[in-house]
Amino acid sequence: MAIYNLGSINADLVYRVPHLPTAGETLASTSLSRGLGGKGANMSVAASRAAARVVHIGAVGEDGAWAVGRMLEYGVDTRSIAVVDQQTGHAIIAVDDAGENLILLFPGANHAISETQIAQALKDAGPDDIFLFQNETNAGAYAAGIASRQGLRVAYAAAPFDAAAVAAVLPLLDILVLNAVEAAQLEEATGQTMANLPVRDVVVTLGADGCRWYNTDAGEAQHFPAIPVTPVDTTGAGDTFTGYLMAGLDRGMPMAQAITLAQRAAAIMVTRIGTADVIPDLKDLEDARF
Ligand code: ADP
Repeated sequence: MAIYNLGSINADLVYRVPHLPTAGETLASTSLSRGLGGKGANMSVAASRAAARVVHIGAVGEDGAWAVGRMLEYGVDTRSIAVVDQQTGHAIIAVDDAGENLILLFPGANHAISETQIAQALKDAGPDDIFLFQNETNAGAYAAGIASRQGLRVAYAAAPFDAAAVAAVLPLLDILVLNAVEAAQLEEATGQTMANLPVRDVVVTLGADGCRWYNTDAGEAQHFPAIPVTPVDTTGAGDTFTGYLMAGLDRGMPMAQAITLAQRAAAIMVTRIGTADVIPDLKDLEDARF
């Protein structure tokens, strides 16, 4: 029982600004903070916080030792993270006083993951395990192919959305997790509704409206309302949700129970400022008054 997560590792550089800059503008920021981010790292940390055994498959540059160290500290197995001759991925995030943001992504090492490294990381994985990936690294389809052949449950968090990337892996997937915007983009690209996708379980997250689970085998859809909280920062909510969802499923929970667990974690996450470093653990969920 383990989660193998092929995913991005980024330094999130968060600049507070009085307003978001426009073309040609030079703007001084009022503060800068650096945190661990990247959809992949966030999901690994979330699943690990939820007490799953998580093997992260990824890459950083020489400048990324701190990020790997932090993931290790959060309980992630980091032995399948390569150090490559590229800069570690990073995101330049400008946040204005109204909480609006602007994000510039530099993939760097996240696009330098080798097929040998992936095959090596997955060599002992099998049907008791889950393979998870997103769209912020290279080699997603290759890795999903290996995982599928070895009988792992294959889960894809299709973000950032790319129609061709989804089409390439759709037949391999057991679980697909999307937010509402991505779901609309997928419907537009394929002309198919969520209920008709060739994936057994499709989970669409709906922000403050919770989420919807399509059990396409049974032809059923179920809505799960969100837990009411006052959000201060929704960054990483979806990643926390997905990490916890995987951890619940890995522990043998039925989908509805894993979704309930994931929504509790995501609700706490939206009340916190930051990304990977503030993802709640199981004790936080126990202490929460919902
Ligand atoms: P993403 O961050 O990928 O866009 P969503 O915004 O859909 O994902 O959020 C993922 C999950 O986080 C939701 O399904 C819900 O459980 C939880 N969530 C998000 N926003 C809120 C909110 N305002 N209140 C409570 N829960 C929320």
